[in-house]
Parts: sequence; C-alpha cells; structure tokens
Amino acid sequence: MRYIDEFRDPKLAQALVKHIHARSTKPLHIMEFCGGHTHAIMRYGIRQLLPQRVSLSSGPGCPVCVTDDTDLDRAIALAWLPQVILTTFGDMVRVPGSNGCLEDAKSEGADVRVVYSTLDALQIARENPDQAVIFLGVGFETTAPTVAGSILQAQREGLDNYFALSLHKLTPPAMRAILDGGEVRLAGVIGPGHVATIIGSEAWRFLPTDYGIGCAVAGFEPLDILQAIAELVDMHEKGKPRVANVYARSVRPQGNRHAQDMMEEVFEIGPGAWRGLGELPNSALLIRPRYADRDASRAFPVQVETARRPRGCRCGEVLRGVVIPTQCPLFQRVCTPQNPIGPCMVSAEGACAAYYHYGSYDVSG
Ligand code: SF4
Repeated sequence: MRYIDEFRDPKLAQALVKHIHARSTKPLHIMEFCGGHTHAIMRYGIRQLLPQRVSLSSGPGCPVCVTDDTDLDRAIALAWLPQVILTTFGDMVRVPGSNGCLEDAKSEGADVRVVYSTLDALQIARENPDQAVIFLGVGFETTAPTVAGSILQAQREGLDNYFALSLHKLTPPAMRAILDGGEVRLAGVIGPGHVATIIGSEAWRFLPTDYGIGCAVAGFEPLDILQAIAELVDMHEKGKPRVANVYARSVRPQGNRHAQDMMEEVFEIGPGAWRGLGELPNSALLIRPRYADRDASRAFPVQVETARRPRGCRCGEVLRGVVIPTQCPLFQRVCTPQNPIGPCMVSAEGACAAYYHYGSYDVSG
C-alpha cells in the first residue's frame, strides 16, 4: 500500500539501523514524547534494533493518561446531572476515577455516549434539544482545534444545548516540566508528529536553544522513528542539537495556521492539572469568557473532592519517563487491559498498554 509500505521497507530500515550503529559512540538517552511513538516502538521491536548505548523512554504524550484524577471525577459528576448527555471518545470511558469510571456510570444509568468526533456530539445536540450535550474535550493541540470548531459551529447554528468541558493541554510545557524536574537526563527527544502538524516543528525550538537537546519530529511508521533516532544520534555525536523535521510529509515548520486561529479564537492559555506533573502554569486550553455559555465548567459547576489516586499505580512516574511500565509492581499481575488500575493501561496511547500488548520482556529502557 502506497504511503505505508514505503515507510516499512525492511531494506531501508536495515540501512538506518546500520547507520545508527556505525555513528553511535556515546550513551544517548532519548524520550519519545508521544504515546503513539511508544506503541510503534514496541510493536515493531525498535528498541531491540538499537545499540545498548541508545536508550528510549516514554513520555507524557498520552492525553488520556495525563488527565488529572480530579478532572476525571468532575467529568463523571457532570454525567450524573439530570438532563445531561456526556459525550466523549472511547478511550476515556474506562479510565478509573475515584469511584469508578464513565462506563460504570453509564451502566448505572448516566447518559454517557461514545462518539467518534465532535460532529457526532453536535448531531446528538441537534437531536436532543431538551437536554444539555457536553463534549468531554481531552487531548493535546492535535484535537483541540476540532473542539474549538464544534463550539464555533454550535454558535453559528444557535445550538444552545451544546457545551464542552475543555481538559485540553499543551505539550511544550509538559516537556519543559520534565526537563526542569531533572529526574531524567535526556539528550534527545522524538517530537510528537501529530501535535506538530498543528503547532509546527519550530514549536520545539526551545529544546536545542534552552536545554541544549536535539529534537526530531517524527511520524509513526518504523522508518519515521528510525530516521528520527538516526538524526538524534548524529546531533549527539556532533554536539550540535537542533530541530529536525523527519515528518515533512505532514508537518510544516509553522504548523497549521487555520487550526491555530480556531484555537486562538476559542481558547485562552491557563493553568492545568497533569497526572504525574501536578499543576503547570500556561499549560491548558481554557474556553474564553466570550464563549462562557458553551463552557461546561461554568454552566454546570459541580463540586468534587480531591481525587483518590489508585494505590500502587506508578502512572505518574511512567509519564515522566522515570520508570518503565514493567517496574510497576502491579503491571500484568494486578493491572491488565481487562482490569486497568491506571490510565496508562487503558488508553490506546498508554505506555503500560504498549508494554502489555507488545511484550513485557523488553525491560531495557
Ligand atoms: Fe498504573 Fe497499571 Fe501502569 Fe502500574 S501497570 S503504572 S498500575 S497503569
């Protein structure tokens, strides 16, 4: 299949692996920011192809995983309000909160509906004019424009019963928090390809300029990731960190201006609570006051207590790259995709799910 097979070509992969082995002489610790990269790395066995001195660890790039427990409890509380239909993407419904998950709430009578896009949520709002339809917006810069677009569409249609709960987050502040925290010593970052289609590869310029760390923005096929690692090895060996865009078929240096404009129109930047990182200033997208009527956090203020974190779950450390999933004592013994204790085992982008599905034997990280 064109556009896929050409990024899985075994001969080209071998050439890149050869290049990495030939060029690498110094230890190099790389973080793949994005959970999608973690899954691809595990699925294609990329760790096993690298020299021992090149190590990879997963990062905070799983929006479901970094959603704070208290925010999740707030979403579940909204689902229990009368005359409310809570709509969300599938990943979110099984993430455990303090007292069960959205799926539990649904089975107990709350109106929770899984949708594939905000278009579905808007349609539900049109079909149910007597009920409030809330879209639970969880995601990074990749999905935030679609939620912004849905709010603008609801405005245009006068769809007064459509709301969004924005738990959207920005990726660069999380990367800075990890580097400022000093728990992991990184010399390279595989930049999130999907996020960069929106904000541009230049948004990661702070890595070489402020931290002296190279960044390679990559796609999600094996050759994309191997090429990114090859670039990072070259930068490290030359001592010249920079931003390489190895996903040029999707990412422009300045990103997608139209999507950025939509985000700018609807959202303002404010503090956000992150699992594993705590509250980070200027890291969340909050709905602007001019769209307050669409903001579920204003329209439906619910009080929730500080959430109880699942005991023994090390998702926070996994998201900071401090431990790998197999170092969590609950991994595979208690916590499985069938019985997830933390979000990193639930989400399609969660590192624990990746290690579970593609082999816990890989503990080299
Ligand atoms: Fe949390 Fe389960 Fe991952 Fe452990 S294995 S960190 S309990 S999600």
